[in-house]
Amino acid sequence: MSTQPPNIVLLGPPGAGKSTITEALVHQHDFVPISTGQRLRAEIKARTALGRTVAPYLDRGDLVPDSLMDRLLRACLETLDPEHGFLLDGYPRTMPQALGLAGTLADYNRRLDLAVVLEVGDDEVVRRLSGRRICEGAGVPFPVHIDDLASIIRCRERGGQPVQRDDDRPEVVRQRLAVYHRQTQPLLDFYDAVGQLRRVDARNTPAEVARAVAAMLSNGST
Ligand code: AMP
Repeated sequence: MSTQPPNIVLLGPPGAGKSTITEALVHQHDFVPISTGQRLRAEIKARTALGRTVAPYLDRGDLVPDSLMDRLLRACLETLDPEHGFLLDGYPRTMPQALGLAGTLADYNRRLDLAVVLEVGDDEVVRRLSGRRICEGAGVPFPVHIDDLASIIRCRERGGQPVQRDDDRPEVVRQRLAVYHRQTQPLLDFYDAVGQLRRVDARNTPAEVARAVAAMLSNGST
């Protein structure tokens, strides 16, 4: 492992639990979470120029063009404390993004340490996303699930409201999965070839998956 704080990329299909695991890990490590999907949704909600441009892509379940994502990523890295590593949730998602990432990081005196992929099958993705809700109005939005009553109660007790993401509708989920297989899955071979890929079975509970990833990060496998 380098002396710099570790910089990690989290890969996996929609619904693999990337944001849940990110939330669990940032509490245990000095990582700054960077969720590109969350940033885009915040831009849409705030009706900024970027938000208006990207909204149709998210609505359809398509990827936002690489040039816009590169600018968004640079804006995130610009403000990142050099003492902290990052946990990048949702970026890169295309080969051009993966190929450009090393150069972008070098501009900010950083390098990538690991790419961790959360592996889960398509049927489980559809099951998870059809029941997923986002707890809004209780601080930082967090995912809950209609099959997990405790999570819904936690949301309501904090004054929040479980809301379905527009792109969790079944027809959009199918498109997001197809896009993942076509455009993002090739990245696994790419990171495998450079020795940076680590695979985690994400069918287990979020707590178990978070433990597996945390063990991977702390046992020096970076
Ligand atoms: P997520 O919350 O990570 O599932 O992302 C939600 C949506 O944001 C995706 O379906 C894409 O439309 C868009 N998005 C997020 N990250 C990226 C990225 N790295 N490249 C292109 N589009 C992205």
